[in-house]
Amino acid sequence: MAEEVYKILLVGESGVGKSAILLRFADDMFSEGFVTTVGIDFKNKDVKVDGKLITLQLWDSAGQERFKTIVKSYFRSADAVILAYDVTDEKSFKRVEYWISSIERGSPEGCVKVIVGNKCDLKLRRVVTSDRGEACAGSHSCPYFETSAKTGVGVNKVFMYIAEKLSRGARKP
Ligand code: GDP
Ligand code: MG
Repeated sequence: MAEEVYKILLVGESGVGKSAILLRFADDMFSEGFVTTVGIDFKNKDVKVDGKLITLQLWDSAGQERFKTIVKSYFRSADAVILAYDVTDEKSFKRVEYWISSIERGSPEGCVKVIVGNKCDLKLRRVVTSDRGEACAGSHSCPYFETSAKTGVGVNKVFMYIAEKLSRGARKP
């Protein structure tokens, strides 16, 4: 294990591709169909930043309400939170506000937050434009990324952005 370990939590509505994003980044894999997540599950992935090896501990969450209390307790120890929605699903985008307020209530000072519009490979089914994603993220002072867990587009960029932020001191006093 590397000397620095950071916890990254993935949140967002059910079906947006949280588990698929995690699997793409950790194992460079994608499988059609839901990846089952019961409550919270994590995977470690080592990355190099500025020549230093750091471990990203990736915490997956299931969107169900009944896991809300579990999610809350994980917010408290999160170094970073990835809030994902599905660009083909308006409802999941509308819920971003709800997730932002949960993150703001539950996460510690200096927690790195990013907003991710996933499934950008589904160009014909897209209903949430990049501009709306950008504007929403901007209004919460978060960077915005678009990803496809299916093709892998954008996925590494999200995690490397977070790794760099954290390793360069975002969470240090
Ligand atoms: P979660 O509930 O947020 O963890 O969502 P899952 O990771 O289980 O994904 C939900 C469904 O969306 C599954 O059928 C995935 O195969 C599919 N999916 C996830 N990410 C993508 C993506 O980037 N592109 C496409 N086309 N499908 C995706
Ligand atoms: Mg899942």
